Amino acid sequence: MSLRDGTLQLGDIRITPVRLGSYWWDGGAMFGVVPKTLWSKLEPADELNRIEAGFNCFVVETGEHRILIETGGGVRHDPRARERMRLPDPPRITEVLAAHGFGADSIDIVINTHLHWDHCGGNTVDEGAHVLPALPRARYFTQRGELEHAREQHPRDAVSYRAVNYESLVEAGRMRVLDGDGEVAPGVEVRVTPGHNRDMMIVLVRSQGESWCHFADLIEYASQLTPTWVSGFDLFPLETIANKTRLLGAAAAEQWWCSFGHDPRVSFARIEFAEGKWRTSETRS
Ligand SMILES: [Zn+2]
Repeated sequence: MSLRDGTLQLGDIRITPVRLGSYWWDGGAMFGVVPKTLWSKLEPADELNRIEAGFNCFVVETGEHRILIETGGGVRHDPRARERMRLPDPPRITEVLAAHGFGADSIDIVINTHLHWDHCGGNTVDEGAHVLPALPRARYFTQRGELEHAREQHPRDAVSYRAVNYESLVEAGRMRVLDGDGEVAPGVEVRVTPGHNRDMMIVLVRSQGESWCHFADLIEYASQLTPTWVSGFDLFPLETIANKTRLLGAAAAEQWWCSFGHDPRVSFARIEFAEGKWRTSETRS
């Protein structure tokens, strides 16, 4: 494998990190019950206790398919939200993709690991009164349980779900709603991995004996590898701990490259278990 200009060549598959800017969110919320004295050494907080959270997306090129994982937070934020998140001028997904050499119409598959606004906010664009797919040729993939949960608008996390990011795609038949694990393209697998919520998917890409895993919000930061360092957002913390422990074991044993939902600096990392703890053995920004 090789890493060229931030791009990971994994066998026959090329993976390009595309960060759609970043927002700043309360560090205590990001690190749950972990005390600030510990997490702030790794993720420095600003004067309002916020830490930087990248909108981490990836373009996976298999030769046959060009797949976009996540679409970031989008641009539909009122001035108060922009100030709260230190996000004065959110980037447009098509412009960021173009800057990386990817035309919006060259993407044929989009994977939303889950439907929180910060992972699918760039799915659609407003054209006058119409809501259109931002990636005009793409089929979008999500998980049925996640779509049902989004529609349920549970008081605990209704604020994370905005119908404008997905309902028009479902109505137009552009959203493939999966029932459980699946392969969205040869070598590109999604797996339901509960913890952050019930139906979030991780993405596992394999080619020529090499593997890459996007943990999405099961592990949001490279500094969050310790299984008990669970985000305060997680609905099922015990499942987060179990799934992190299991997957980190596989990542270390099989030398996976790994990526994280919101790390603003680390695009790829390899994992090891040493001196009684999980840590990165190699990182690339
Ligand atoms: Zn997230």
